Amino acid sequence: MSTVYDLTREQLAERLAAWGEPRFRAAQVWSQLWKRAATYEEMSDISPALRERLAAELPLGTEVLDERAADRGATRKALLRLGGAHLIEAVLMGYRDRVTVCVSSQAGCAMGCTFCATGQMGLRNNLTAGEIAAQVVWARREAALLPATTPRRLGNVVFMGMGEPLANERHVFAALARLTDPRAFAIGGRRITVSTVGIVPGIARLAVAHPQVGLAVSFHAASDELRDRLVPPNIRYPLADLEEAVAGWRVATRRRPSIEWALIDHVNDTDEQAELLAPIARRLGAHVNLIPLNPTPGYAVTGSPPARIRRFVSVLERAGVNVTVRDTRGRNIDAACGQLALSAVEGERVGSRP
Ligand code: SAH
Ligand code: SF4
Repeated sequence: MSTVYDLTREQLAERLAAWGEPRFRAAQVWSQLWKRAATYEEMSDISPALRERLAAELPLGTEVLDERAADRGATRKALLRLGGAHLIEAVLMGYRDRVTVCVSSQAGCAMGCTFCATGQMGLRNNLTAGEIAAQVVWARREAALLPATTPRRLGNVVFMGMGEPLANERHVFAALARLTDPRAFAIGGRRITVSTVGIVPGIARLAVAHPQVGLAVSFHAASDELRDRLVPPNIRYPLADLEEAVAGWRVATRRRPSIEWALIDHVNDTDEQAELLAPIARRLGAHVNLIPLNPTPGYAVTGSPPARIRRFVSVLERAGVNVTVRDTRGRNIDAACGQLALSAVEGERVGSRP
């Protein structure tokens, strides 16, 4: 089994034509699938018999196995089985002014960042383009269930779930194409951010293939000696090469990149690291997002205490760097950055649905 979201419009039309359906039917089903994010049961303009056949032969392939809520229902983490096989987690986050979904590009991850729960589980599978896009479609549907303190409308997509997007480049780029296609999901590329550990050749290709899409780069260290230990891909793509690639991306897209930095107590939250980071961020015109490390089972170190975070921020700000301390949404249901690992978790369970 796979997912209907892997089919092109033409492929869907061919299938329906082979079933003897009139031509307009494919357009109808396509628009329900992509624009309305409807399940087959919700497609009231399609006959029950056809809906049944679609569900059996061209399944949505988005099964919600478990779902947890936190932050008064404004954060929802779902365990999804995609395409009948691949288990991943996706997180929907409702804020006062926007709704963002954090999607996965792989089941697990091979990059081996020591502090990351997904890295600790290793790589199980790449996701297909349809499986990646299907998470965003799920989020459009799911946004209606968010509390009234949020817009209840999906606005933004971040590739900060499980996996390294640029290690599954072909499928991620194809998913971006489908999501931004005005005839399919029709979300603006500017509302999407791809987060990467720093796969240098992939960054250059992203700028060419999807110049509208935003880029976040997970630095976490500003010296090769420390970054080699925290983020193993740095051995292959050291900081100088990474900076050059991000600078190239910025010139090509004329957009401001983000630098992600998980603050780890006594590891990368020192004045020395802040002072090494500042000139890099300035040269790249980058916005720095700091996030206190989220706890994960396989890493015994904790996040930085508030006083350290303030100090790190002030070193950057004094050097003229733009910096934000991000909140840790859904931390108590293991839904925050770096915590996704298919774990059984505490928290208010909001049930499992087909
Ligand atoms: N593989 C990509 C995207 C998924 S990880 C990447 O690494 O960028 C999404 C973000 O969560 C990255 O910035 C990553 O470094 C960060 N992260 C991983 N583990 C974390 C943890 N335990 N606490 C806080 N952030 C973490
Ligand atoms: Fe993979 Fe990103 Fe986790 Fe590193 S931080 S192991 S690249 S998911």
